[in-house]
Amino acid sequence: MDNLLGILESFKPGWKEKKGVREFLTVLEERIIPSYAVLESRIENHRVLFPEEWDRIITGFREVRIFERFIPPDYGGEKVSESDIYCLMELLGYASPAIGIILVSHGRAIDIVSLGSERQKDAYLPRMAAGQFGAIAMTEEKAGSDASAIGFMARPVGDNYLLNGEKIFISNSGLAEIYAILVNTRGTKGPRSLSIFLVENGTPGFAIEDLPEKDGLKALPTGRLIFKDVLVPGSNMVGEEGKGLLLALDVIDRGRIHIAGICCGLAYRIFREIYFYALRRRQFDHPLTSSQDISFQIAEMYSRMNAARGLCFHALEQVGTPHYRLSSSLAKLFATQMVTEVAARAQVLMGGRGYLRGSLISQLAADARGMEYLEGTSNVQKMIITRELFKLYYEKADPASAGR
Ligand SMILES: Cc1cc2nc3c(=O)[nH]c(=O)nc-3n(C[C@H](O)[C@H](O)[C@H](O)COP(=O)(O)OP(=O)(O)OC[C@H]3O[C@@H](n4cnc5c(N)ncnc54)[C@H](O)[C@@H]3O)c2cc1C
Repeated sequence: MDNLLGILESFKPGWKEKKGVREFLTVLEERIIPSYAVLESRIENHRVLFPEEWDRIITGFREVRIFERFIPPDYGGEKVSESDIYCLMELLGYASPAIGIILVSHGRAIDIVSLGSERQKDAYLPRMAAGQFGAIAMTEEKAGSDASAIGFMARPVGDNYLLNGEKIFISNSGLAEIYAILVNTRGTKGPRSLSIFLVENGTPGFAIEDLPEKDGLKALPTGRLIFKDVLVPGSNMVGEEGKGLLLALDVIDRGRIHIAGICCGLAYRIFREIYFYALRRRQFDHPLTSSQDISFQIAEMYSRMNAARGLCFHALEQVGTPHYRLSSSLAKLFATQMVTEVAARAQVLMGGRGYLRGSLISQLAADARGMEYLEGTSNVQKMIITRELFKLYYEKADPASAGR
C-alpha cells in the first residue's frame, strides 16, 4: 500500500507522517487485506459470520483509536480533519470497501447524533467513540431515490412515539447498536413530514432480518429493519419535528466524499492488480504492456483515477460553503463511474481469468458496482448537480445573455 500512501501524500503533503497513520496501515495490511476473501465469502447479510476475523479487525481499530477520530473531544473522541478522514477512507477502499462502508455509515450516524440535543450527545457519542456502531436508515420498499415517499409511521402517544414500518438495505444492520431512522411523523407524503429518531438495537418490537445475498460488498451487513409497535420517547427525536430530511441530506453530503474516497482506493487496488498482471503476462512473445493499446488503457485508467481524487480534494475544500453539495455530488458521480470502468477494463485485460467467479478481480469488480447505490445513485447525483448548478449560477442569470 506504500504507493497509495505516496499518491495521497502528493495530494496532502505531510499526511503519511501524521499520528496513527502507520499503525492504521498495519491493521489494514495484517488484519484486513489477508481476511478479504474470507469476509467476502459470507452468504448471510446481517450477522457476523466470521467472528474471529471480525474481532481481530475491531480490536485493531480500537488499538489505533479509529472510532475516536469521528467524535469531538468533549464526548470522548479526538476528531481529525475532513481530509484526514478522507485519506483513511481511500486506504480502507483499497483494503476492503465493505469495511470502509461500515465506517462511513457509522460516521453518518455519529453526524446525526451530533446534530441532536446535549442529552442525546452525552448518551450516545461516548459509546460510539468506544466502538459501538451506528447505522442510518432511510430506504423503504416504496421510498428509495425518493425519500419524500417514506411511509414508515411514527405516531405521537403522550410524550412518546409509536413506530411501525420497515426499512430495507440498511448498512450495519445487526452490527449497529444505535439506529438513526427517518420516519413520517405527519401521515402526509412529503419532505416536511419526516423526522429522525434514535432507536437502540434490542428495543421491544424492533427486529432485524436478512436480505438476499449481494453480488459484492458481502462483508457489509445489509439487512431489513422491522418495527412493530416500538415505543420510543419523544426525546429521542433528533432536531425539530418535520426537519429530518434536511438533516439527513446535510449529513449525506459528507458521506458522498467518503464513498468517493473508497472508490478511489478500490480503483487503485484494481489498477495495481491489472498493472502487475499486464507486466507479467506474455502473449506474442511480449508482455501485454508492450502493446500500445494496453499501455494507453493503463494511462487512461490512471488519469481518471487521479481526476476523481482531484474532485474529492476539491470537494473537501468546499466544506461549509454553498458549493459543498455540488462538489461532493460531482466527486461521487465521477468516482463511482470511474471505479466501475476501471474494474470492467481490468477484467477484460485479464482475459478469461478476469471472468472466473470468485477470482479477486471479479470480487473487486462486484464491490465496485455496489458503490453506485450508496448515498444516492448516479442518476440522483445528476439531479443534485443540475439543481445545484441552477441555484448557484443560473437562477439569477439572464438567459438572453447566452452567446455574449
Ligand atoms: C450495499 C448497499 C448499502 C445500502 N445502505 C443503505 C443504508 O445504510 N441506509 C439506507 O437508508 N439505504 C441504504 N441503501 C439503499 C440505497 O440508498 C438505495 O438502494 C438507493 O437510494 C436507490 O434506491 P432503490 O434501490 O429503491 O432504487 P430506485 O429509487 O427504485 O431507483 C431505481 C433506478 O432508477 C433510477 N431513478 C429513480 N428515479 C429516477 C428519476 N426520477 N430519474 C432518473 N432515474 C431515476 C435510480 O437512479 C436507479 O438507477 C443501500 C443499498 C445498497 C445496495
